[in-house]
Amino acid sequence: MRLDRLARIEKLRLLYQQSFSAIFASLFTAALICTVLWQVQEKSVLLGWFFVLLFSSLARMLLFYRYWHFQPENEALLAWEKPYFLTLLASSLTWGLGAVVILPEGSVLHQVVVYFFLVGMSGGAIAMYSAHRAMTLATIASILLPMTLWFLLQGTVIATALALGALMFVAVTVGAGRVLSSTMHRSFRLGYELQDARDAAEKRASKDALTGLNNRRVFYQQGEEMLGECKEGVRQLAMIISDVDHFKSINDTWGHHCGDEVLKAIADAQLSCLRSDDLCARLGGEEFGILLLVNDGEQAREVAETLRSCLEHTNITCGNHEVPVTASFGVAVGRQSLETLFKQADAALYRAKETGRNRVVCSFDENEREAAPVLVNRRG
Ligand code: GH3
Ligand code: MG
Ligand code: MG
Repeated sequence: MRLDRLARIEKLRLLYQQSFSAIFASLFTAALICTVLWQVQEKSVLLGWFFVLLFSSLARMLLFYRYWHFQPENEALLAWEKPYFLTLLASSLTWGLGAVVILPEGSVLHQVVVYFFLVGMSGGAIAMYSAHRAMTLATIASILLPMTLWFLLQGTVIATALALGALMFVAVTVGAGRVLSSTMHRSFRLGYELQDARDAAEKRASKDALTGLNNRRVFYQQGEEMLGECKEGVRQLAMIISDVDHFKSINDTWGHHCGDEVLKAIADAQLSCLRSDDLCARLGGEEFGILLLVNDGEQAREVAETLRSCLEHTNITCGNHEVPVTASFGVAVGRQSLETLFKQADAALYRAKETGRNRVVCSFDENEREAAPVLVNRRG
């Protein structure tokens, strides 16, 4: 259903993009017909018809102009289907009904010439509007049927032959138009199916299936890009590694399913406490990685501390159980390689676990640890 709708939108876009030239073709053909009939038809009738056609063409031009101005996309484009259809119908009826009015009664030759032009216009309509079957049908019927009926009513052999020829032409082209339009629909649909499949594959390759966070691959990929930015500017890359405390006992106490729910809640909580520019990933199990650009280590420490406190105060439940959750954080900051940053952050995380959990330890504190240990949070 959604794909069919998208294909319909795509076909409508095609109509707007390609049929602007049809307006000029229509006016040019009308001018040719007026020239041919100039000596055999009243000039006021010819000019009257031409001006009505010019007026309906201007309405179409105005619509196209508005389309290019507003550039409607997606669902909004569907609202442009009706005006397109109505202005096209007005123009086609001007052609079909007008042709009967301007037809010179006494000259079969001129009648045949006009009819020839009408059949040509209908052929062009199939090529031009085949993306939309109803429009193609309505256009051909409006252009050809009035004059075909007129010919049938004349009762002469030539007129009847012309009418029957035109009816056969309509029947054949309507069939061909149907094939063309459904093939076009299928091909647009297929395009969207492929795009959906590609999006899903890309998501699978970059997102963690359980939490919806970025996965380890994206963490390193984006990490390299952020590191590149740091080398050009004054800022540094901060890597924060967090690991949920005693997660095994959460699984053991409330079951693996609850463990999964808790991981999802932790991911959401971390995201809600970070800025949109910061990158948050699940590195595996109950371990998460955060990357952000900072001016100095203290800024990174503050973010880690915010996350730690955020998790500690987030009310996480599974079923009716409230599950208390804390995590430990290791922080490293600099412009060194990602591998080095990871080793430093991981060592700091290890220290955070070792010294009581539910705390932030920074690798740059570690360097000074021997002189004076600095622990941001002493709860645990
Ligand atoms: P610590 O505070 O030292 O980090 O203790 P811990 O219990 O969190 O650490 P440990 O490494 O012993 O246990 C991690 C557990 O996380 C073990 C594993 O079964 C569980 N785990 C890993 N991935 C998942 C997952 O996707 N879902 C669930 N429910 N559990 C997971
Ligand atoms: Mg753990
Ligand atoms: Mg772990």
